[in-house]
Amino acid sequence: MISSALLALTVWLPQEPKVALPVPEQGYARPKNRIAGDKAMRIVFVRTSFANDSDPMVSRHSEAEMTEVGEALTSFFKIQSYGSMTVSKFEVSPVLRLGKSELYERTDKDGKELPAKQRRNAISDAVAAAQRQLGRDLKQEFDMICVMLNASPTGGKIAPPGVAALATGPQTSIFFGAKHQWRVYAHEIGHNMGFPHAWSVLDKNGAQTLSSDRNFIEYGDPTTPMGKGSNSYSLIEKYRMGWIGNSESDTRFIKRFDPGEMSFLAYDRPDAKGCVGGYINGEFGVEIKELVSKRDGADNGGDVPSTETPGPQRLWFSVISRGNLTKGDMADLPRPLLLAHLSSLVPPAKGAGKAFTTVSLDLKPAPARNRREQMAGKGLLPGQSGTIKMKDGKVVVVKFVAYDSQTHLAKVSAVLQ
Ligand SMILES: [Zn+2]
Repeated sequence: MISSALLALTVWLPQEPKVALPVPEQGYARPKNRIAGDKAMRIVFVRTSFANDSDPMVSRHSEAEMTEVGEALTSFFKIQSYGSMTVSKFEVSPVLRLGKSELYERTDKDGKELPAKQRRNAISDAVAAAQRQLGRDLKQEFDMICVMLNASPTGGKIAPPGVAALATGPQTSIFFGAKHQWRVYAHEIGHNMGFPHAWSVLDKNGAQTLSSDRNFIEYGDPTTPMGKGSNSYSLIEKYRMGWIGNSESDTRFIKRFDPGEMSFLAYDRPDAKGCVGGYINGEFGVEIKELVSKRDGADNGGDVPSTETPGPQRLWFSVISRGNLTKGDMADLPRPLLLAHLSSLVPPAKGAGKAFTTVSLDLKPAPARNRREQMAGKGLLPGQSGTIKMKDGKVVVVKFVAYDSQTHLAKVSAVLQ
């Protein structure tokens, strides 16, 4: 009696309507096969061993370690998405036995390269092992499959040189090291979601941000895990996910500014509502091919063309106010940082236009003396200014005019000269 009354009641309770996420402009959309920004994401950490391990029951990735990573990612995605995306489930698998390690090696213990043709794919084998050994279909059950490998007991190398982890497509990634921080997983899942690497531009003499005498630095963005950061995905990345919109009716939005005074809120506050950044259009003279051809075989997330002519460029402004994720939260930075990013849309030669995003500019007036400074100091503090040289010889003088630590409203001026 009671239960049927309750049932009737639940039928009549109004459903909480799910608000659709804003959709970015066409050129900024991610490939269609990527996870939606409001998905309840399910992640599995697949622990593996090799048949020739001294004890194939043992993975060097402990359950405790992976649980910690899963918890950090749960907090991270909730904060990043302003609550739109949740990690609804993460699971740490029992140790699954792969074949002998030689089957996966790129080079043997003497450094001799083994032919790619004969190499087995460890991700496919791990997924097959889950089916065989556990009766589980990981591709059906999970949105993200993170495969972790032991070191090869032969002393051969499985990872490509200098690579700690790799994402392959929208759902799978592989981790070659003994222990990775959560941000490495956030990086690979970022690729799974459709993000390329975040670059920075470092001016060699430091006088102007985009002089012709400049270096491009992969992973150079100080905030996003797609660069060297451990706090927030960049404004553009969040915009691409639909976590930020481009209409004033969206809870959080970006807008196009005219050069001059502009004001917007720090975009990384969990309660941010209103305009959280924006851009000005211009010809900043960075060509897409410069950004993607700096490293042979660079992993650009698979969606960055390297030869097409870039379209109109945008110079984006955003302010971060919170630091690295620790213990499930991000504390306020002592001082906020004004960041600038460049993006350039590729005109549609075939099919939809694609965005090339996430180049962080070094806005520091003085040259960085070492890599640590390059990474740490890409932005301007309140009161500081920098100049950005445009293709036509004009400069944009950027100043972080003021920041209100109560309202988190930033005042910025970007003047063409
Ligand atoms: Zn990467």
